[in-house]
Amino acid sequence: MRVIAIDGPAGAGKSTVAREVSTATGLKYLDTGAMYRCVALAVQQSSTDPHNAEAVGRIARDVKVVIEEFGAQLNGTDVTELIRTHEINAIVSVIAAHTPVRDAMREQQRAWVAHHGGGVIEGRDIGTVVFPDAELKVFLTASPVVRAERRVQQNGGDIEVVASSIAERDHLDSTRLDSPLKPSADSVIVDSSNRTISEVVQEIVNHFAQVGHG
Ligand code: C5P
Repeated sequence: MRVIAIDGPAGAGKSTVAREVSTATGLKYLDTGAMYRCVALAVQQSSTDPHNAEAVGRIARDVKVVIEEFGAQLNGTDVTELIRTHEINAIVSVIAAHTPVRDAMREQQRAWVAHHGGGVIEGRDIGTVVFPDAELKVFLTASPVVRAERRVQQNGGDIEVVASSIAERDHLDSTRLDSPLKPSADSVIVDSSNRTISEVVQEIVNHFAQVGHG
């Protein structure tokens, strides 16, 4: 399976970089964060307690989530914008910590890759847990200040509020017991703080060529 795993904290530039790596390599792109966001939206819409692992797990198994390159559908409805609100940012890491949710998402991610014959897969646990045999694993990071500034440039908002929301999400994501955010031992660590997107993309494409493709 030709898989490029791109993991890292919020605001590191994963989506932009992963899309361009997808274009450069011809591999399809999957944003697994959008999948967790769709489950969070279904939890919100049904007024379910995000801390209730069993109820949230049931929702994760029952919903139909379709992720496209630039959009997302939940049970047949376009939710591309609804999954990017502050309310969803505030609960997505809570629902993503539940093992039944992760089990359901992991299964769908593996099925997606089997169906597409590989892919550029972006997330938090792709290289460590979902595709431990990925041909290339990248851990994309950037300083907290740069990550907050990028989010403000993209979506607006107050820099301090955005920085604390990112810090809270990263803390939950990296301290959870199931599939925490961390680089796998065999990942290439790329710091995007002082580099352009095309430099980062080129570095990843070069690494991919070195593992026998490109
Ligand atoms: O990538 P994005 O910021 O959209 O991800 C939203 C949230 O989904 C993350 O903060 C994390 O809680 C969860 N997530 C995850 N595992 C992944 C991808 C995302 O737990 N592979």
